[in-house]
Amino acid sequence: ERGCNEEVQKAQRAAAERNGGSPSPPTIFSRIIDRTLPADIIHEDDKCVAFRDVNPQAPVHFLVIPKTPIARLSQVNASDTELLGHLLVTASRLAHKEGLADGYRLVINDGKHGAQSVYHLHLHVIGGRQMGWPPG
Ligand code: C5P
Repeated sequence: ERGCNEEVQKAQRAAAERNGGSPSPPTIFSRIIDRTLPADIIHEDDKCVAFRDVNPQAPVHFLVIPKTPIARLSQVNASDTELLGHLLVTASRLAHKEGLADGYRLVINDGKHGAQSVYHLHLHVIGGRQMGWPPG
């Protein structure tokens, strides 16, 4: 448990540096990462955590989040390239594990127009039913 908290604190310092020294407030997802808020975690590694969405929009709906609390996709930079790739590869592997052989929807909401509500970058993986297009 202690290791997790240290990991989160390290990530928060990195995020503060990323934002030019201004502290970025931890979100509810930091509490999921450090296990102070319960979540149905389906995957964890050194760079990311995946857990089931509390308000699922389909039979399968989970989120993949980096441990480092990047607020939103529009704040990433070139140094995040490897991490972003890791999140995508993890989403793909977990979708396979969840049995989404017929496909799925991957969503990243950014900012107000993207209807982002939690300002800690997250990939939604949504599947288990037919999706429509365009999205709302
Ligand atoms: O992309 P957006 O920021 O709108 O999505 C946040 C998501 O986080 C929502 O789907 C919400 O249900 C989920 N959530 C969660 N567990 C929490 C708080 C929010 O799964 N404790």
